[in-house]
Amino acid sequence: MQTKIIKLDPNNIDNTALCEAAAIIREGGLVAFPTETVYGLGADALHSEASKKIYAAKGRPSDNPLIVHISSYKDLLSIAKEVPPEAKKLADAFWPGPLTMIVWKNDNVPPETTGGMDTVAVRMPNHPIALRLIAESGCLIAAPSANTSGKPSPTEASHVALDMNGRIPMILDGGPVGIGIESTIIDLTEAKPMILRPGYITKDMLEAVLEKEVEIDPGILASEAACTHPLEAACTHPPGDITGPEASGLKPKAPGMRYKHYAPKADLVLVDGEAGDVVAKINELVQKKQETGQKIGVIATDETKSLYQSDYVVSIGARQDEDAIARHLYKILREFDDLNVDAIYSESFSTPRMGQAIMNRLLKAAGHQVIHV
Ligand code: AMP
Ligand code: MG
Repeated sequence: MQTKIIKLDPNNIDNTALCEAAAIIREGGLVAFPTETVYGLGADALHSEASKKIYAAKGRPSDNPLIVHISSYKDLLSIAKEVPPEAKKLADAFWPGPLTMIVWKNDNVPPETTGGMDTVAVRMPNHPIALRLIAESGCLIAAPSANTSGKPSPTEASHVALDMNGRIPMILDGGPVGIGIESTIIDLTEAKPMILRPGYITKDMLEAVLEKEVEIDPGILASEAACTHPLEAACTHPPGDITGPEASGLKPKAPGMRYKHYAPKADLVLVDGEAGDVVAKINELVQKKQETGQKIGVIATDETKSLYQSDYVVSIGARQDEDAIARHLYKILREFDDLNVDAIYSESFSTPRMGQAIMNRLLKAAGHQVIHV
């Protein structure tokens, strides 16, 4: 299959191209498109055959449900069995935006879209191309991240092309995304709202709107805690598809959070501690590896970049600029794939607001290997 890549200006969307993309969705085909978080791989969410194509193109396990993207609040009413009052409050505050809500589904949503679950994940993305594509197609669009399963989520159309060329008919290139990590997921089907995946919208922001406590999935917390004990050597969980949380016996509630995600080709190890100690430790580790003939990459910050001696040193941004760190993370992991490095060492980024979301992704990419100094 020939993949058509169409450049679109988000502020001046070409109507002919958009209509062509919308027609593909209506006919049950796949279109990759930008959202404000990462690029999505979209198909008609209410048609099982269309949804199934997403799993096939990504190589995604069929029990990992898709997020349904909508362009107006009434779309939520058309697929939810019941809409809890929290959903309205959160939609008013954060939609369109990087928040996915889990609600009970009705029969309009086929089991293929929800990985067989009785609940459905719904989000209204804050990107003009995504919103226009949904509205023009007249469909609700199921869209996971547009990467091959297990690869970092795409933050530019070129990343999508690398993974999806020849597998899908069309990619809409709206330039680099703004946020760079996937949406926050909040489950509204239990007595207490619970965050199943941390993201740009934080627990504090959600609690401020709901005026009540929001919990964080214990499975997510377990995966953070799994590596916080001080160790000189890397704390390594057994290799395989399931990492971190499984080891503690606590399964994350979102099926997708149980898989090893975002894995770069090279072995990635995080080094956590005071800045000076981290730099010294990484330089020591790099030197040891280089002595065995390996090529090494380092993920640094603007402040520390010049302090490393390694084959490749990339700055993820200024340490104070959390938005830049989130936006650059996946791109850097992909760049190191292209450079064919043997190992990557990264500083850790427990920044005040998005630190939990950033570290959640980075820990997964590292297979939970952390050295504490
Ligand atoms: P992606 O679109 O690639 O970011 O993946 C969607 C994420 O949402 C995965 O982690 C899914 O497991 C999660 N998800 C989607 N639907 C549900 C649901 N009904 N219940 C819990 N998690 C869900
Ligand atoms: Mg994904």
